[in-house]
Amino acid sequence: MSKWKKLLAESVTSPGDLPGHLGLSTGELDEVVRTYPMRINPYFLGLIKRKGDPIYAQCIPDTREITDPSGLEDPLDEEARSPVPGLTHRYPDRVLFLVSGRCAVYCRFCNRKRKVGKPGMVSNTTIEAGLRYIRDHHEIRDVLLSGGDPLLLENNALKRILSALRAMRHVEIIRIGTRVPCTLPQRVTPALTDLLKKYHPLYVVTHFNHPREITRQSASACERLADAGIPVGSQTVLLRGINDRALTIRELMRKLLTIRVRPYYLFQADLARGTAHFWTPLDTGLRVLDQIHGHTSGLCAPHFAVDLPGGGGKVPMLPDYAEKTEKGRWILRNYQGKKTLYPPPEAECFGEGRHAKGE
Ligand SMILES: *Cc1c(COP(=O)(O)O)cnc(C)c1O
Ligand code: SF4
Repeated sequence: MSKWKKLLAESVTSPGDLPGHLGLSTGELDEVVRTYPMRINPYFLGLIKRKGDPIYAQCIPDTREITDPSGLEDPLDEEARSPVPGLTHRYPDRVLFLVSGRCAVYCRFCNRKRKVGKPGMVSNTTIEAGLRYIRDHHEIRDVLLSGGDPLLLENNALKRILSALRAMRHVEIIRIGTRVPCTLPQRVTPALTDLLKKYHPLYVVTHFNHPREITRQSASACERLADAGIPVGSQTVLLRGINDRALTIRELMRKLLTIRVRPYYLFQADLARGTAHFWTPLDTGLRVLDQIHGHTSGLCAPHFAVDLPGGGGKVPMLPDYAEKTEKGRWILRNYQGKKTLYPPPEAECFGEGRHAKGE
């Protein structure tokens, strides 16, 4: 058995099987896990240093998941925008295609926690139906494979999907959304990268939430992908008590660049039921970005986005750098808080004749 499959097979899937030092009373947690499955593979479990730390809080079940009724079952209304089960077509030119129902770790804050790790989320039938839908819709030029985690599929299953997509002339870009480089980096084997690189242009969007997730192993996984010519981006979810301090996110973004991963999105946590204890106010994300823009390289700055409840899609948000005066002039604020009046185009400093008639 390959190393990653062995690690996966040795995952803790029940609160009672956690090592004693994580000291949990299991009665109520068993009930949590019956509603929302638990899986922590030994690699990720090994990153926990103590109870309540940022790794612990992401993967250890919590009774608030079932006692707090706030939130929505399907916060992004994915089912309503699903022409076939497992595929969401919300934007004109791209789709989200769920190809696996399993993950290497079940994150407690997951916005699809209503269905990840449960039987029937994805099947050969839904995958076939999704492929047929994409084949029939020529406006789709970008396919984002997701789940669950697509990289929990066996190489041959992944190959079948990728080659079917590549056979469609209108599909320009294939993206794989996967948390595996962070949660089970052993999965990113040379055999996997050899397979993936046959389907370029292929992008990987991974998911790191805390600087402590960047280890020798996760760094090698990302570097192996990059060496195969695969641009690797990362999305991060803002999580209360885990990474909601500006300096934590800034450190994470800087570290990601050192392992050749480009920050892509910083997400406001979705309003999924069972995740309310992770939510942060919108101001948090804006404050975090304010500590990144200008303070560190532009490559470190992700887009801060809110995926609207009810399925309106992602909305990018920026701290208030720009202000328009009543006279239609712009005042721009830099990272030090200094405000500058930006001259309108007719101003002399743009040079004479720039907007002369007949130009
Ligand atoms: C996030 C998402 C995408 C991809 O959006 P990008 O902004 O292109 O990364 C596509 N479809 C759905 C339904 C999504 O939620
Ligand atoms: S890896 Fe992604 S899909 Fe899986 S549980 Fe975590 S957030 Fe959800």
